[in-house]
Amino acid sequence: MAKLQAIRGMNDILPDQTPNWQYVEKCFQQVVHRYGYREIRFPILEQTQLFKRSIGEVTDIVEKEMYSFDDRNGDNLSLRPEGTAGCVRAADQHGLLFNQQQRLWYQGPMFRHERPQKGRYRQFQQFGVEAFGMAGPDIDAEVIQVCASLWQDLGLEKFLTLEINNIGSAEDRKRYAAALSAFLAFHADELDDDARNRMHSNPMRVLDSKNPAVQAALKSAPALVDYVSDESIAHYSELKSLLSQVGIEFVESPRLVRGLDYYNNCVFEWTTDSLGAQGTVCGGGRYDGLVEQLGGKPTVAAGFAMGVERLVLMLDSLGKIPEATSQVIDVYMVVVGSELAGPAQLLAKQLRQQFPELGLINHCGGGKSSNQMKRAFNSGARLAIVLETESGQPLETVKIRHLNDSGDSISVEIANCGEKLAEFLSISE
Ligand code: ATP
Ligand code: MG
Repeated sequence: MAKLQAIRGMNDILPDQTPNWQYVEKCFQQVVHRYGYREIRFPILEQTQLFKRSIGEVTDIVEKEMYSFDDRNGDNLSLRPEGTAGCVRAADQHGLLFNQQQRLWYQGPMFRHERPQKGRYRQFQQFGVEAFGMAGPDIDAEVIQVCASLWQDLGLEKFLTLEINNIGSAEDRKRYAAALSAFLAFHADELDDDARNRMHSNPMRVLDSKNPAVQAALKSAPALVDYVSDESIAHYSELKSLLSQVGIEFVESPRLVRGLDYYNNCVFEWTTDSLGAQGTVCGGGRYDGLVEQLGGKPTVAAGFAMGVERLVLMLDSLGKIPEATSQVIDVYMVVVGSELAGPAQLLAKQLRQQFPELGLINHCGGGKSSNQMKRAFNSGARLAIVLETESGQPLETVKIRHLNDSGDSISVEIANCGEKLAEFLSISE
């Protein structure tokens, strides 16, 4: 029978790779903790309606990328394509938003039916933060700083560029969309089908087109900046000033609009040229209208989401993952003879209790001493504890062997085994 394969675009992350992921996860968690953000977890499945109403009906995600299906009750559900909608739904449902300030973070898998390629998958992992109830540009500057701190901790700060833009309020954008729509209709014969389909339903998405011909036609298009209100401009200038005061460099990108409809005022992306085509590592901005749009009381908000695969790829290609993260275990216990299985497990149990940080593999499955030693060497452990007796003799001593080039080994009484391990490994109870 043919073997079953994983779904295209959905990756297995194997044990050799998981330390890299854990490293990035740990760094992210340390950073958000430093800024006082608390973790929220929400389901992977939600009502399809939630994503339609938040991300927008006429967006790539909702039009062609969602995994949606009817469940056994006939409810139309979707695998979450991003985190903000679910986070807002959960926080509002449990009364965390109205008249409150919240700093939240999440991590987890997201699903989009895109064309798989390097850095673009159908199941991918995001980290995100969402900050609710703070209207000023100070919180925008803060969420951007959260990213900058992470880049610094990961050693990526030189490889990422912050792009920002002011896309105005919902009102501003409505006026701009009308003008852009008229412009696109006038230039319809220079556009591709995708752009023509969107020129009335969601004209701003046309600005995002990757087609050079469409981009050329857009050269003389009306600019959003001319439609942005004074209030929005003031907010944006203050953000730029705050970023400068904390030493965060940025590039202003007038064409940056983001692919989700809920954003307003400041939006941003962190991009790199060390990943090829999939160069956006993180995107975010304000979304002041979303909570209300989803049925909650008006609550202003700002946040971002970053793609963990792209970060891991970047760290890997730049050689920025510390060696030490792949250290799995400290000790491999070699057990020669089935009669020693009991004493071996008892000794292992005592050592694990004595040193909660210790990683110890207790050999299972028997076999010759030489074969077990081979496994010990391959395990990456620094020490082997060898349990072996003359047949019929009680086990009184064990051998502790260094698994480095020296191969030194000493014999110790079982009762002193812990003390010796602590000395050799410089660990404490
Ligand atoms: P892109 O322009 O690359 O399609 P996006 O604007 O659709 O990105 P967002 O929805 O803003 O992406 O998601 C935030 C981040 O999540 C992206 O910057 C990227 O790092 C990551 N991401 C998005 N889609 C994918 C995917 N299919 N595979 C891997 N990572 C992804
Ligand atoms: Mg996309």
